[in-house]
Amino acid sequence: MQDAPAPLIDPFARAIRYLRVSVTDRCDFRCVYCMSENMTFLPKKELLTLEELDRLCTSFIRLGVEKLRITGGEPLVRRDIMTFFQGMKRHLDSGALKELTVTTNGSQLEKFAGPLFDAGVRRINVSLDTLDADKFAAITRWGRLSQVLRGIAAAREAGLRVKINTVALKGFNEDELFRLAEWCAENEMDLTFIEVMPMGDIGNEDRLGQFWSLKDLRAELEGRYALTDLAERSGGPARYVRIEATGQKIGFITPLSHNFCESCNRVRITCTGEIYTCLGQEGHSDLRAPLRASEDPAVLEDAIRKAIGLKPKGHDFDYSRQTVDGRVSRHMSHTGG
Ligand code: SAM
Ligand code: SF4
Repeated sequence: MQDAPAPLIDPFARAIRYLRVSVTDRCDFRCVYCMSENMTFLPKKELLTLEELDRLCTSFIRLGVEKLRITGGEPLVRRDIMTFFQGMKRHLDSGALKELTVTTNGSQLEKFAGPLFDAGVRRINVSLDTLDADKFAAITRWGRLSQVLRGIAAAREAGLRVKINTVALKGFNEDELFRLAEWCAENEMDLTFIEVMPMGDIGNEDRLGQFWSLKDLRAELEGRYALTDLAERSGGPARYVRIEATGQKIGFITPLSHNFCESCNRVRITCTGEIYTCLGQEGHSDLRAPLRASEDPAVLEDAIRKAIGLKPKGHDFDYSRQTVDGRVSRHMSHTGG
């Protein structure tokens, strides 16, 4: 048997335990804050194959990653993606991987909730910004609310714990704050709000809804419910409160905040195999070349260690300055949200 390799520790003594992997840049929705209506997607040969994804994740797990989140684009529209999930099950079975999760728009869950559960997935995040069918059609451009609601029901029936992720948009879902919270409570789902980030050139100057600060959103919740701050942190940008009356947990993700950098335990991989070691910085390294250069895991693991060696301390500067107009130049669907 091979000796366990030294774990991945970055230059600031943080162990890397959490990997987020985007498996496709494609999607069956065109959410206005995420994509333009006429997206040009990457040629297939640019994407990591399912076999390359397996080798990559397997190497990270060997190096100490315990939590793997699969995202996109819409991960469940990638052809044969269940083969990849089924492959990852061996790492759950061995105990090396503690959690395999997915972030999805929910459109394919009716079909895939059961197979995901069978592959060892126990919790999923479903993105849903409104419970109003017309508003849903407007914000996703191509989505249908009823399909997503059926998907969520299928997920719960299959035994998956569901967390709803809602992008907070002033003038769009402000009026649904309590309705969303109550609907989630009734269905035993946690709810997390995400502050909207101005993304690359997606041609939606007339975007539906505007920036709604989570500080204001939280204050509104506090006007109705007694909230208790929870100490729990996941090494990422989420903070949580509990609604005392119901015990429901509500999360707040402010992607631009940097008050979690000290405990940051995560890295992201794009669907083309670039590794971003900091959400707030543009620096990245290529893992596709080493993956394609050799079947030898040692070559890949060497490249992974080099990339982790470049993980910056944090993004404690105003990174909106990185582009002249204050936008982050990469799309969420590329780095995986
Ligand atoms: N398609 C899947 C989904 O929608 O859940 C996974 C990928 S999506 C890029 C991941 C998350 O990023 C979603 O919760 C989505 O709402 C969020 N997101 C996309 N664009 C965003 C933006 N400009 N600001 C904040 N969150 C955004
Ligand atoms: Fe697709 Fe998710 Fe982006 Fe919406 S947020 S367009 S569902 S990738």
